[in-house]
Amino acid sequence: MKYLLTSVSVMAVVAGLFITEARADLQFDSDVEPALKNQILADLQFMGSITSTHSTALHQQIFGQVNGADYTKWFEARVFTVGKQDCGSSIAVACVDPSYENKIWMTENYTKFDHPQIARLSVVYHEARHTESEHGNWGHATCPTPFLDDHGNPVTSIWTGAQLAGEAACDVTPFGSYGSQTILLKNIALNCSNCNSKVKADADIFATDQLGRIIDANAKNQMKRDFGLAREEMNIAI
Ligand SMILES: [Zn+2]
Repeated sequence: MKYLLTSVSVMAVVAGLFITEARADLQFDSDVEPALKNQILADLQFMGSITSTHSTALHQQIFGQVNGADYTKWFEARVFTVGKQDCGSSIAVACVDPSYENKIWMTENYTKFDHPQIARLSVVYHEARHTESEHGNWGHATCPTPFLDDHGNPVTSIWTGAQLAGEAACDVTPFGSYGSQTILLKNIALNCSNCNSKVKADADIFATDQLGRIIDANAKNQMKRDFGLAREEMNIAI
């Protein structure tokens, strides 16, 4: 199965025409209802349609180009199966269980919550990053206590509104699940050629928010430089 997926992905890269066929190889557990399955497939199809003429260095290092073929290849190398469960929380959207390789689980919230498509997709790619067992599944870092934003207010989840102080919901590297998710979103905001202005604005809002979960100053500054943010905009810790 792995060989088959790899072959199809290579064809997709070469021809750029086999995205739908390649998606047919993504397996869904029998309890994944049609609405959820169709939502995921439609979201992935959008991801597979993205084009650009520029990608930041960190994006190239993690995903390749800001390009549908690269996104599809990256995803299909990591996720073979989609299951459904509650992920141990009534507010979770998706999760990975490291004891099940190359599998992600979605919850019913995936089709219920009202976040934009590009935000949903970034969650799917965040979870796909967690399948990388060779990197210890890129475990989260614990957010500091207190965890305050630039205005001195408690940092909350853009997804659920929950306060993040002391929660395992942060990252200390650009390459982790939140780090890579942020880089993905920011590159779509900056570089997607065929995304409409709403998609790019949504991507920027969620990228800016998720950057707040990068709690290591060096990692955060590395990402800001990668995004081309002006030095005076940087929040350099001293
Ligand atoms: Zn995660």
